Amino acid sequence: MKKFKVLTILKIFLLSILLLLILRLVSTDFMPTMAENKPKIAIVIDDFGNNQEGSLEMLKLPIKFTGAVMPDMPKSEKEMNLLLENGKEVILHQPMQAHTGKVSWLGSSPILSNMSIKEVENVFKKNKEQINKAVGFNNHMGSLITEDREKMESILKIAKESNWFYVDSVTSSKSVAYDVAKSLGVKAVKRDVFLDSTKSKEKVKQNLRKTIEIAQKKGSALAIGHVGAEGGKITAEAILEIYNEYKNDVEFVYASQLAN
Ligand SMILES: [Zn+2]
Repeated sequence: MKKFKVLTILKIFLLSILLLLILRLVSTDFMPTMAENKPKIAIVIDDFGNNQEGSLEMLKLPIKFTGAVMPDMPKSEKEMNLLLENGKEVILHQPMQAHTGKVSWLGSSPILSNMSIKEVENVFKKNKEQINKAVGFNNHMGSLITEDREKMESILKIAKESNWFYVDSVTSSKSVAYDVAKSLGVKAVKRDVFLDSTKSKEKVKQNLRKTIEIAQKKGSALAIGHVGAEGGKITAEAILEIYNEYKNDVEFVYASQLAN
């Protein structure tokens, strides 16, 4: 009788283990497909590196996002590390000259239109070495430079050597940067929506909803927001509220996951 009981318990135990194993196999098989079917949203947050307003709030967000770090700023290295410690992805936010705006807004390591190709390459290489945990780059301002095929080619070639990807912020409708990246075989993705540059949180939320609509139509979408005066706390709050509303319907991914 006793022996029989022990055997039964043993059988139940072994059966439970088998059941658990089957459940595990089934769930790992099906879960990725379920996740893949959700529209993907990548958010790039620009202008890290200067302890700007809203930086802490962004870091605390419970989502994956990509932080673009400006080179040569007082907190460039610190914020690069903080982003990684908080599970975010890091890219270099390469300052580039725009059609309008002051050159002083570009910081100390910009790519300017009057530079030779050699100078452009040196600036980019130096910034790339400094933001050394980045896996890609995007442009800070840059409406003038992203229209310049030769200059974009020279930096995208350097990016390719490290298998970096590129996010075209599309600050100019005439940007050739995305096409140049593709022709060189650099993984790239274009910005769909700018989230902020407004004082209204409702407006940022509207822009996030627009991003989700685009992703529902084409499978994925990329939005760019900012720390500092252009967005900051308002943008972080809006992202958190939209995340709570849509967390079961969309998947937040790194920008690199949309680059192809
Ligand atoms: Zn910027």
